[in-house]
Amino acid sequence: MSNEDSGDRLLDIQNLSSGYSGVPVVRGVNLHVDKGEVVAMLGPNGAGKTTTLLTVSGLLKVLDGSVTVLGDPATFGAPHKAARRGLAHVPEDRSLFFGLTVQENLRLGLRGSRKAQAAGYERALELLPALRPLMGRRSGLLSGGEQQMLAMARALVSEPKLLLVDEMSLGLAPIIVERLLPIVRDIANETGAGVLIVEQHVHLALSVCDRAYVMSHGEIVLEGSAAELKERPDLLEASYLGGEVTA
Ligand code: ATP
Repeated sequence: MSNEDSGDRLLDIQNLSSGYSGVPVVRGVNLHVDKGEVVAMLGPNGAGKTTTLLTVSGLLKVLDGSVTVLGDPATFGAPHKAARRGLAHVPEDRSLFFGLTVQENLRLGLRGSRKAQAAGYERALELLPALRPLMGRRSGLLSGGEQQMLAMARALVSEPKLLLVDEMSLGLAPIIVERLLPIVRDIANETGAGVLIVEQHVHLALSVCDRAYVMSHGEIVLEGSAAELKERPDLLEASYLGGEVTA
């Protein structure tokens, strides 16, 4: 039986090791996301953030420890099962079909009954209204920021309970990131979904998230509320530089 209804915990990662070809690059990771929370994963390049998200989605194997997604263990090799339960993942490369229009890309994300599909579609456009005038445009012709909005909207049409967003800001000008990033806060506030974001823009991430984890060399080296971490730039800096992190 699923224990999804037993509490607000949408994602529970305990002592996780995962990696590639059986070789762990992430070790001993403990992390959780609750309903309505925005949680950020920060840290330098190669720290293991994307690897962690891929493991949650079932695209990489749990080598040790456990990953519980919406009440059930992560399903390696069957990401559609987690999607059916309410997990959505916006990958780093956005994975859009450039030859298809905005509307056609959005339809690919639809799930459930016609009523659920109509509600999901409308909810996504309420959260990302800038897409409305672009419906007939091929997604390959959109700007980087518009493509990112489309990738988010395609995840949202399925009305996810848990949303993973990998480097929303990749390739975007900081001013665009400043406009886009608050959307994850709106999603959590307005839909009650839990959102886990991987983000390079530390200060922007801390301005929208509730809590954050900093990863370095495959391990969590620092965690705390956004307010706590904002107060301690010295600790954040040390965690990025791989130094000793002591409060
Ligand atoms: P970035 O911010 O640069 O995306 P990240 O924190 O998301 O970094 P990961 O992409 O999870 O880091 O990479 C963690 C480690 O795993 C790195 O050392 C990377 O070289 C390695 N790695 C990533 N993808 C593969 C792969 N397909 N095969 C083998 N090793 C990989």
